[in-house]
Amino acid sequence: MIKDSGALIQKIVIVGGGTAGWMAAATFARTMGKQVSIQLIESDEIGTVGVGEATIPQIKLFNSLLGVDENDFLKATQGTIKLGIQFNNWGRQGDSYMHAFSGIGIDLGMIDFYQYWLRSIHDGVTSSLWDYSLNTQAAYKNLFAKMERVGETRLPGINYAYHFDASLWAKYLRTYCEHYSVVRIQGKIATTILDPDNGFIESVVLENGDTINGDLFIDCSGFRSLLIEGALKTGYEDWSHWLPCDSAIAVPCASSEILLPYTRATAHSAGWQWRIPLQHRIGNGHVFCSKFMSDDKATQILLDNLDGEALAEPRKLQFVTGKRKKIWNKNCIALGLASGFMEPLESTSIHLIQHALGKLVELFPRKDFAQADADEFNRQLSAEYEHIRDFIILHYHATERTDSEFWNYCRTMEVPASLKRKMNLFRESARLFRDDNELFSEVGWLQVMIGQRIIPKSYHPLADALTAEELKEYLANIKTIVEKAVAVLPTHEAYISKFCAAVKI
Ligand SMILES: Cc1cc2nc3c(=O)[nH]c(=O)nc-3n(C[C@H](O)[C@H](O)[C@H](O)COP(=O)(O)OP(=O)(O)OC[C@H]3O[C@@H](n4cnc5c(N)ncnc54)[C@H](O)[C@@H]3O)c2cc1C
Repeated sequence: MIKDSGALIQKIVIVGGGTAGWMAAATFARTMGKQVSIQLIESDEIGTVGVGEATIPQIKLFNSLLGVDENDFLKATQGTIKLGIQFNNWGRQGDSYMHAFSGIGIDLGMIDFYQYWLRSIHDGVTSSLWDYSLNTQAAYKNLFAKMERVGETRLPGINYAYHFDASLWAKYLRTYCEHYSVVRIQGKIATTILDPDNGFIESVVLENGDTINGDLFIDCSGFRSLLIEGALKTGYEDWSHWLPCDSAIAVPCASSEILLPYTRATAHSAGWQWRIPLQHRIGNGHVFCSKFMSDDKATQILLDNLDGEALAEPRKLQFVTGKRKKIWNKNCIALGLASGFMEPLESTSIHLIQHALGKLVELFPRKDFAQADADEFNRQLSAEYEHIRDFIILHYHATERTDSEFWNYCRTMEVPASLKRKMNLFRESARLFRDDNELFSEVGWLQVMIGQRIIPKSYHPLADALTAEELKEYLANIKTIVEKAVAVLPTHEAYISKFCAAVKI
């Protein structure tokens, strides 16, 4: 019999009502709303960061956990479909490739498709890896429909994520939470009270004097990191020597004629520019390194590269890339920007909120807060952050650009040993492995490496089992399957108008 299992958590206090705060509230409401009281404190005066509009396919799991209807959600958030990210000017100026969600080609025997493709390249055949990617071909033609499988073939179907308006998404989740009796408290937190014996958080006190007690505190206060850093002084691992961008200028602009089903990330001389197409506008931003570029210059570059008229004044954001030394410290767990920030380049921040929430539910504590649970949570989260960090660094480091001090720095910087190992292995013999079930699969790494000109010296020896004629036929068949599958797709715009058109504003 289990003895002394510890009292149950009864009160969860969430500090912050941005994407992280409302995602946390919705998750707790859905999974344990009958068991615990959930209070969320947010300050209208401070507001939210107001960016964070591109996602990765894992978000569909989050929505399905909540029981959210996809079309309803896309309508409510002015959402669109995202098939991948187009990277322009990264390997060299003028280069362009897609990091598409979904697999590429059809594996043969025990060997990945790309090994056969590499063999064909070594044999002197010129074809693009992305000719065999259904997502990429659909994206470039601005097409979309749901397609789990391609007929009776083994070609992976279409995989997708969303672009949406961040403030509408927070509102959507807030309405969702109201049905579950989450209590929203509007007010600004002035102080945090700690237990003098163990340093755990006892309560937060608002400027109006109200005190809010809790058992478990979720810090979703954004870059302010009110609890995890302000109160608990947890410390921060600074990764800016690897991810040197520290600023962003954001501005929305009017929509262009064609509704693209992908994010675009265009490299400039000291950073890059995002373009996120929504139904009612395009979200844009220039992420840059202030050591190599002034705010004025960054703003000018952004405004010069918009597809339509700017719809607001450009807004500046500043950050230090890295993560909290402990994301779970005592009775506080940091989510979203309070836990760290790595760059919006691969749209991973919202995923990290979702991932941390999943782990927290798995390791949900009792009131006595077993240290082993917190240690395990921190271990797993650190690993996830570090894998994503390496993947993002790869984009900056695998470049042949020599046209600016920024790119010279990125190209020649020392990278983490874990990334060096991965790059060397691929360069030498084209092997790719997904470490510890990391977020990005082999095909994600493959596209960025090939897209940024890391061409392996050789390929898997078993790919030589086919004769030259068989190889040609195998590749040609897959290309035909992709072309035929793409040919029947409606446009992205037609899909949105039919299933999830938002109210025009
Ligand atoms: C330039 C940039 C681009 C990004 N792009 C993407 C992207 O494309 N995809 C993606 O996944 N992520 C992206 N992100 C990250 C994404 O924006 C965040 O992960 C997400 O919005 C979560 O933010 P948050 O809820 O942690 O913080 P915030 O939105 O800043 O919310 C903080 C909350 O805390 C409250 N608060 C703070 N202090 C107090 C106080 N004293 N009292 C009461 N309340 C308080 C605020 O009122 C607010 O409600 C981007 C981030 C940046 C900086």
